[in-house]
Amino acid sequence: MCADTAIATTAANDRGKGIFITILGNNSALPAFGRHPTAQVVTVNGQDVLLDCGEGTLMQLQVYNIRWARINHVFISHLHGDHYFGIFGLITSLSLFGRVAPFHIYAPAALEGLIQNMLSVANTHLCFPLHFHALPEGAALLVDEKTFSVSCFPVAHRIATHGFLVTAKTKGRKLLPEKARAYQIPTYFYQRLKAGEDYETKDGTIIKNEWVTEEGPHPLRYAYTADTVFTDSFLPYIAGVDCLYHESTYLSDNEEKAQARFHSTARQAAEIARRAGVRLLLLGHYSSRYQQLDAFVAEAREVFASVIATEEGRVYEVRLNAGEQDATAL
Ligand SMILES: [Zn+2]
Repeated sequence: MCADTAIATTAANDRGKGIFITILGNNSALPAFGRHPTAQVVTVNGQDVLLDCGEGTLMQLQVYNIRWARINHVFISHLHGDHYFGIFGLITSLSLFGRVAPFHIYAPAALEGLIQNMLSVANTHLCFPLHFHALPEGAALLVDEKTFSVSCFPVAHRIATHGFLVTAKTKGRKLLPEKARAYQIPTYFYQRLKAGEDYETKDGTIIKNEWVTEEGPHPLRYAYTADTVFTDSFLPYIAGVDCLYHESTYLSDNEEKAQARFHSTARQAAEIARRAGVRLLLLGHYSSRYQQLDAFVAEAREVFASVIATEEGRVYEVRLNAGEQDATAL
């Protein structure tokens, strides 16, 4: 277990800086044992984004008191129904509630036509601008806001599938005001120092950035692999992330089935976490054949110590230097 990455439950109104993951659904294709199809809200520096949108997502958002009107970006990993059937109810409900703010969907290209058909046959006109962004074949930066970014990377599943990487941006390098003053750097230039720029004096002398700043806080990163067979093809995209959500549809007793269906076992998820050097592993996308989740943790821990089997309704906070890892009920 990594001592300086913490996972804890946090009240919905106490989510400021950092990354908070609310699990709305973590079962595979069929709902079972109270578990729903895949969806999760990632709150990154105060902004909510939705990763996948399985059937029932809108109701799960209500159950867990997520202010769903605040969600502006939805990312759909692939077009297996358990990852997107909820999008139709979500967008039509947003319209019924009078949303006016733009809404962005990032998904495989074919979803756009399905949404248009759904709206067309019902003669529904949305009262907000819906922006559809087709995912590219490979990796790409999708959203680059002031406080966070989201990019996608390809994983290996039966159909084209992407994982997503969410980054909580920091304010850049840490300014050392006494040193900046000593070099007589004007205060208007401080923001550019934080961004890493050198300063040039009127007589052309260069004040190197590292003389007046030091490394700022590390930007937290969360990677979500969606559905994937065991492969290290996407390791470069997730290397060293603070938290990795990797599917574990099966336990090792069904490894052949996992391979045949382009899914992974808990042990394989742990192996990817180990190879990628991540700090914490979250498991999910459980097959409906498993009621108890203890075995997922036990199996994964044989390979990678810092692991949690996610549970619906729990909020997992990723933060730095916070001591012991902890997970408690909402
Ligand atoms: Zn799938």
